[in-house]
Amino acid sequence: MTKYINVIFLKLKRFILFFLVFVSILLSVTNFAFGDETTKYKLKTVVIDPGHGGRDPGALGKKSYEKDIVLAIGLKLGKYIEKSFDDVQVIYTRNTDKFVELHKRADIANKNKADLFISLHANFNKSRYAYGTETYVMGLHTDAQNLEVAKLENSVITFESDYTTRYEGYDPNSAESFIIFSLMQNTFLEQSLEFASFIQSQFRERVNRADRGVKQAGFLVLWKTTMPSVLVEMGFISNLNEEKFLTSRQGQDYIASAIFRAFRDYKTSIESKSDFSKAITSSEEEIRFKVQISSSRKQILVNSDYFKGLKNVQEIKVNKTYKYVVGNEIKYKDILEYREKIKEYFPDAFIIAVKNDKIIPLKEALDEINY
Ligand SMILES: [Zn+2]
Repeated sequence: MTKYINVIFLKLKRFILFFLVFVSILLSVTNFAFGDETTKYKLKTVVIDPGHGGRDPGALGKKSYEKDIVLAIGLKLGKYIEKSFDDVQVIYTRNTDKFVELHKRADIANKNKADLFISLHANFNKSRYAYGTETYVMGLHTDAQNLEVAKLENSVITFESDYTTRYEGYDPNSAESFIIFSLMQNTFLEQSLEFASFIQSQFRERVNRADRGVKQAGFLVLWKTTMPSVLVEMGFISNLNEEKFLTSRQGQDYIASAIFRAFRDYKTSIESKSDFSKAITSSEEEIRFKVQISSSRKQILVNSDYFKGLKNVQEIKVNKTYKYVVGNEIKYKDILEYREKIKEYFPDAFIIAVKNDKIIPLKEALDEINY
C-alpha cells in the first residue's frame, strides 16, 4: 500500500513539475510578445497651465485681465483634447480664478508625470502698437525683448510670500541672476521646440495671427518641469485689436483650436519617433557630452561661488584630480551650442565625452556616434 502511494506521489510530482515548466514558458513567450507594445511611447497626460489668477490679474488690458483670457482659452483647449482623445488625461493647474504659485504649477505637472506642459499667457508692451503671437521654451534669451517678456511673467512671484527662498535666490530685478538661471539645462529642448513651432505655424497659417516666432528665455514656471514645456503668448492685451480678439468668443475658439491642432500634430510626431522613448530612458552606456569648466587638485564644493552661480555642476574624480563639468547632451551639436554660452563665464571651457561615468577621448566618442 505504501509503495502504491509512493508511485502516485512520484507521478504527481512529475506532473506538477511539467506543468510549472509549461506555464513559465508560456508566460515568457506572451511577455515577450506584449513587451514590445508596452514600451512604445504614448503621450498620455497633458497639463494646461492658465497663467496668473486670483490676486494676480496678470497683464492689464483696457477692459480685461490676462488671467481671465488665459483661463477661458485653457478650458476650451482642454475640452477639445478630451473630446478627441479618450486616452489623454487633461490636468489643469487651475480651472477657476485662483492664485497658484509658479513652483506649484511645475509640481503639479511633475507629480502627475505629464508628457507635456502648456502655459498660457497674454503679452504686454508699453507700446500699444506691438502685436502678434510668440511661443517660448526655457533657455537663454537672444535679445533684450525676450528678456523683458520673461522678467514680466516672472515678476508675479512677488505675489508669493516666501519667493526669496523658494526660487533659490532668483531675483526678479537682477539681470545677472537671470542669465545664470537661464543657462540651466533644458533636457527636453528639442521636443519643446518642435511643439512650439507647431503652435506658431497654426497661429500663422490657420488663424491669421502675426507670428513673432519661437523664442527662448528663462521663465520660472518652466524651470522645474521635467517634460517638454512651452509658454504661449497668445497676443498682446495692450493692443486694442488683439485685446478685442482675445476677449471675443470667436477669438478664444480660434486660439484654443489652433493650439489643439498643434497638440494633435505633436502627439502624432512624437509617438511615431521610436527613438524618443529611448532618448528619455537612455542607458548608462550612452555617450554624454559635457563641458569642463575647471580642474583642481583640491576638491571644490559644487555650489561654491567659484562656479559663478552655475547650477548643476558635476564633479568627476580622475586619479588625484577633480574635474568640474556642466551640461549633459547626447548630441555633439547641442554641446557645441552650450559651450558657447558657458564661455561667457569660463572662457577656457572645453568639451569632454563621458561613458559609464568615465571620461573617454573626445575623438573616440565622436567616432562612435559617427559624427
Ligand atoms: Zn502672463
